[in-house]
Amino acid sequence: MKLVFLGPPGAGKGTISRMVSERLGIPQISTGDIFRTAVKEKTELGLKVQAILAAGGLVPDELTIAIVKDRLSWPDAQRSYILDGFPRTIAQAEALAGFSSLDAAVDFEVKDELILFRLTGRRVCKVCGAIYHVVTKPPKVEGICDLCSGELYIRNDDKEETVKARLNAYHEETEPLIGWYGNRSLLLTIDGSPDAETVYNAFISEIGRFLRK
Ligand code: ADP
Ligand code: ADP
Ligand code: ZN
Repeated sequence: MKLVFLGPPGAGKGTISRMVSERLGIPQISTGDIFRTAVKEKTELGLKVQAILAAGGLVPDELTIAIVKDRLSWPDAQRSYILDGFPRTIAQAEALAGFSSLDAAVDFEVKDELILFRLTGRRVCKVCGAIYHVVTKPPKVEGICDLCSGELYIRNDDKEETVKARLNAYHEETEPLIGWYGNRSLLLTIDGSPDAETVYNAFISEIGRFLRK
């Protein structure tokens, strides 16, 4: 199955896409993870996008589209993938439609009030990218990843001022994709506010009707 995960920052796209990836063996492709790795490794891409990520803006479409197009050409993505955080603009959705055909766009709905709580408590593993929350998903040992013993860190775009900029970018650029996919009968809306197992189960029980149409 070929899916994109939509939803505001903090909706649980990374959490649920990682659960689906682990449990069903589908590659999870996160543009945010790709950009953060590039920044950490100070690659050419990383130097280009560092200031944009820090300010909570969007990386230019042309650059983002080229990265995703290349990633989707890898052998592991020929049958199935989950794109986590792409597309984020109509131009990205149009480009994607030109080089791959989706089964569904899954929109995780979460109100703005919950988002700040989720993002300010988010902790991420430096090594494997696993996602924790100080209240809803604490690691067994504070500051240490359960999966790989890597150190957990706070994303520098999870501070309150930057979250506001990211939410603005979401409402202006990304939210219109809900209608765009709805018009193409590809939209699956999932309530992202209950606990992650409940959200995962809702996704599993609803996704079947989009497959093998
Ligand atoms: P979140 O899931 O919390 O919204 P992501 O990890 O998906 O955050 O993205 C982090 C940052 O990476 C974004 O704020 C943006 O700067 C950049 N980014 C990620 N995906 C895209 C995209 N599809 N288009 C443009 N910028 C992107
Ligand atoms: P996104 O990728 O959409 O930005 P994440 O998956 O990174 O969102 O989740 C944001 C924060 O909220 C993380 O700290 C994560 O542990 C927590 N979280 C995600 N989904 C849920 C959920 N269903 N219930 C409670 N907390 C959640
Ligand atoms: Zn880890």
